[in-house]
Amino acid sequence: MASGISLRNVRKSFGATEVIKDIDLDIDPGEFVVLVGPSGCGKSTLLNLISGLETLTGGEVLIGGNRVNDVPPRDRDIAMVFQSYALYPTKTVHQNITFGLQTRRIPKDQQEEAVAEFSRLLQIDHLLHRKPGQLSGGQRQRVAMGRALVRKPAVFLFDEPLSNLDAKLRIEMRTEIKKLHQRLGKTVVYVTHDQIEAMTLASRIAVMDNGHIRQFGPPEEIYENPVDLFVAGFIGSPP
Ligand code: ADP
Ligand code: MG
Repeated sequence: MASGISLRNVRKSFGATEVIKDIDLDIDPGEFVVLVGPSGCGKSTLLNLISGLETLTGGEVLIGGNRVNDVPPRDRDIAMVFQSYALYPTKTVHQNITFGLQTRRIPKDQQEEAVAEFSRLLQIDHLLHRKPGQLSGGQRQRVAMGRALVRKPAVFLFDEPLSNLDAKLRIEMRTEIKKLHQRLGKTVVYVTHDQIEAMTLASRIAVMDNGHIRQFGPPEEIYENPVDLFVAGFIGSPP
């Protein structure tokens, strides 16, 4: 099941500095929204406000129509995949993937079912007994995705998940993420620096600048009809 996400007048300050400035955004259930914008414009902070890792200074966040301002991250039915894989180095791949299920007291047979399904899907079923140190970067990223997927959340947040991978792997993983999305139909918010990634994956692209969303629309619209010079300059000419 997928849930929509709505941000209403969302604001976030760190001390006296406002880094998210009155953002309104409506993401449909099952949509793949890609967030782009210059470094420091607030992309990660916006994801952290949706996940609950950061608390709001103002406004509200709704997931599946429910206000989640006061819901802690672990109860938000969201999974996150970051650029740094942050796998547990002393645990096996299998233990890394099931850890979040154990802490949520999911029955053992359901855990095993989920591991089998997603490790096959991600082609890491032959690696389940290895430790992260014995994996390549691409394999580690698959494990990180597996760990997020087994929880079967309604919403996925990705923060530049592929930026540590080499170009060839990036293209491969991009294709896989697209296939996974088509197959699982979850709502995704995905931050990237890579314009081709944005074009390939997004149902809609949100272009951020300095705490604002300048434009939110399908890739073709952003490229063909940028609303201002910032968007035009940032996106550049169509690939
Ligand atoms: P992006 O992901 O687009 O590069 P971030 O959301 O990480 O941008 O950061 C937006 C702004 O907020 C930056 O100026 C950053 O320095 C600042 N910032 C982010 N997190 C914190 C924090 N925990 N404390 C203080 N400032 C922060
Ligand atoms: Mg960031």
